[in-house]
Amino acid sequence: MRPILVSACLLGLLTRYDGAAKRNEKVLEHLREKGLIPIPVCPEQLAGLPTPRLKTCFATGGGAEVLEGTGTVVNSEGEVMNRLFLKGAAETLKAARIAGCAEALLKERSPSCGVHRIYRGENIVVGQGVTTALLQRSGLAVFSEEDL
Ligand code: SF4
Repeated sequence: MRPILVSACLLGLLTRYDGAAKRNEKVLEHLREKGLIPIPVCPEQLAGLPTPRLKTCFATGGGAEVLEGTGTVVNSEGEVMNRLFLKGAAETLKAARIAGCAEALLKERSPSCGVHRIYRGENIVVGQGVTTALLQRSGLAVFSEEDL
C-alpha cells in the first residue's frame, strides 16, 4: 500500500471555489484497484483561501511561468493571486513529503491542479497548474483523472 496525493475535490470533499466537490468514481476505483492510500489535499485551501472563493484563471503563462515569476494567475476581480497560489503549492509539496508520496493524481484544468490543460481567461490551453508545476519540478509523477 503506497500513499498518493489526490486533489481533495476528486475524492468528494467540498473544496472547490464554488463550495462543491468533483467526486470521480474512476479515481476512487483506481485507488481501490491499486491499493493506494489517498492523501487528500486542496492547494487553494492550504494557501488559506476561503471556500467558497472567487474563480481564478491564468492571465498570462501557466504554472511553470508563475514559478518563474513571468506568469500571472488572477481572480474574477482581477486581483493577482500568485503569492497565495505559490504558498498553496509549497504547502502541498510539504504534505507530499510528510506522507512519503512519489506521485499525485490531480484535477485537470484547475489553476492549481491542472496537469495537461488549464484555463487562460475563457480558453482552455495546454499547461499545468501552479501546484502541478512545483510537484513535477520536485520529482513527483503527476497525472490527472483524465489519464485513467
Ligand atoms: S485547488 Fe485542486 S483540490 Fe482544491 S478544489 Fe481546486 S482542483 Fe480541487
